[in-house]
Amino acid sequence: MARKILLIDDDRMQFRLTQANVARFHGERCELEWAATYEEGLVRLLEGGHAACLLDYQLGERDGLQLIRAAVALGCRTPIVFLTAETAERVDVAAMEAGALDYLVKSEITPRALERSLRYAMKLGDTLEALRRLATRDQLTGLLNRREFDRILTEEEERARRFGHPLALVMIDVDHFKLVNDSYGHPAGDAVLREVARRVATVPRTVDRVARFGGEEFALVLMQTDRAAALDVARRVCALVECEPVPGGDGMALNVTVSAGVAAWPEDGKLGADLVAAADKALYTAKARGRNRAVGFNEL
Ligand code: GH3
Ligand code: MG
Ligand code: MG
Repeated sequence: MARKILLIDDDRMQFRLTQANVARFHGERCELEWAATYEEGLVRLLEGGHAACLLDYQLGERDGLQLIRAAVALGCRTPIVFLTAETAERVDVAAMEAGALDYLVKSEITPRALERSLRYAMKLGDTLEALRRLATRDQLTGLLNRREFDRILTEEEERARRFGHPLALVMIDVDHFKLVNDSYGHPAGDAVLREVARRVATVPRTVDRVARFGGEEFALVLMQTDRAAALDVARRVCALVECEPVPGGDGMALNVTVSAGVAAWPEDGKLGADLVAAADKALYTAKARGRNRAVGFNEL
């Protein structure tokens, strides 16, 4: 499949020209897509899916620098190569500071220079994405790691306070997991963790965040969700893990259950750390009441 490159430029001639150049790239096939305005460019960038973006400085009323800053602030990770009309040095430097990976002076662009710059941007973009993944994801399950969970919880707690929406935290722990390791071995335990993680992650909405909190514990950060809705999510997680035996490798299928504790902001804790403590207490109670169940902090 061809890698998609986005050109944001209000000049149709530039698009035609660049399109012809991109079609002649060596190696992996690339395809040029075009956005002609600032607004369309921003929308397309935020949709993602492009291996690189060529961005023109001149974009009607607004300019490419504003567009880079807006896109980066909204979480855009597409590698951007900046196009300037003349050797306006200040613009070049400003573009790099705003987050562009490279810049090209339009009048000096040759097919080779264009290909070199875009290939470099795509390669660096791939490397940065791989590093980002390593830094934020848990290796065994692919879920967010503990560090990313802490960062997100703090950020979401601040957002909930600023906008006054509810926020909920669900802590999930596999029941008697030590027995799985002790009876079937560590690799079987790992396989169970991977499958439980997969099931847990299918329950919340895409806006919610799912993390591996530690060993056999998972955490859900549920946006704009009150206690009742969070308890419902937690119960569905318990039911989904229980409903079907979990493959433990070598054709084994193991009956696994989880317990969950639910805490809601701001009733159960004003800061992220308080919420974790509250959800943990509720989880402990769920264990004490027989496991394979969800308990809210208000029900202790
Ligand atoms: P409870 O129902 O009270 O939660 O009992 P439990 O046995 O699940 O709890 P405990 O905390 O005693 O045991 C957790 C076990 O999880 C101990 C640890 O060796 C195991 N564990 C933690 N991380 C991993 C992992 O990545 N892979 C495997 N296979 N086991 C792990
Ligand atoms: Mg545990
Ligand atoms: Mg456990």
